Amino acid sequence: MILVTGGGGYIGSHLVKKLKEDGKEVVVFDNFERGHKWAVKDLDVVEGDLRNKEDIKKVFNNYNIDEVYHFAAYSLVGESMENPMKYFKGNVCGTLNLIEAMIEYNVRYIVFSSSAAVYGNPEKIPITEDQPKNPTSVYGQSKLMIEEILEWFSRLNKIRYVALRYFNAAGAYYDGSIGEAHDPETHLIPIVLQTAVGKREKVFIYGNDYPTKDGTPVRDYIHVMDLIDAHIKAMEWMKSEDESEVFNLGNGKGFTVLEVLETAKKVTSKDIDFEITSRRPGDPAVLVASCERAKKVLGWTPKSSDLEKIILDAWRWHKKFEQHKNF
Ligand code: UDP
Repeated sequence: MILVTGGGGYIGSHLVKKLKEDGKEVVVFDNFERGHKWAVKDLDVVEGDLRNKEDIKKVFNNYNIDEVYHFAAYSLVGESMENPMKYFKGNVCGTLNLIEAMIEYNVRYIVFSSSAAVYGNPEKIPITEDQPKNPTSVYGQSKLMIEEILEWFSRLNKIRYVALRYFNAAGAYYDGSIGEAHDPETHLIPIVLQTAVGKREKVFIYGNDYPTKDGTPVRDYIHVMDLIDAHIKAMEWMKSEDESEVFNLGNGKGFTVLEVLETAKKVTSKDIDFEITSRRPGDPAVLVASCERAKKVLGWTPKSSDLEKIILDAWRWHKKFEQHKNF
């Protein structure tokens, strides 16, 4: 049985759906503070919180878990700076409780949802996994602390882990049945598409004075289904090799905020209004991944690397979601 913590969240719910389609047995653990019940309808779900050891025991006692995908976390950079305790306690303590339960119940394998935020402002582009880790946010720091904790438990031969450092996840399930729905929404592509459906008046672009070709920040957008594919390959690799590793997951291609906006205009055939405002604190100018390690070791290649395809899948989902909010 596969345990997916945070299985009601954006990326977690996409993995759960794919695993079920592949005929796997899955149990979702989520407190539904930010995750959605509609995203995991008709599945095995345990409602609980990783900060509560009794809740975790419920899953490990009632299901025969042999592998874990761990998504459950707070994930907003801005919020982490305003409420660091929430992030350290929620993300780090929650994961410690999970690892403790894994060891107690002899569960050896965990794929952990990490982030490009562990790097902070990179020294070189594209970013390789061995570059210095200097997070510029509490969120990034909490992810790095968890990676380091996992590494120690791996060195001590208690568990094996793969940490996947996502760049900018975007897009939706191929059939448009589930997709990204944060509340509040802070991510660029959903905000651009909410503007295209008329839910917002305009997009506020956080600064056009960065050292990039049009002055707006460059990011590496990766289709959520390509992320999911990498998770499944990472679990297979870890189980067959009995090794631990960290991998970047991106496309290795960067797009500016204005390029995203232009592509979204083309895909949606809508005029999307925008206004340039001041920089958002903590935003690095350029984040682009080197994914050579994941390609070489996991045999993974992103299949939907085209930005138009990523935005098109997200668009299909957004139109549907905004029309039928009663999911
Ligand atoms: N961004 C923006 N306006 C918004 C949201 C985001 O200009 O309303 C920019 C942001 O400054 C960053 C890029 O879009 O350069 C991607 O931001 P997002 O929050 O989607 O992801 P992040 O890179 O922060 O993880």
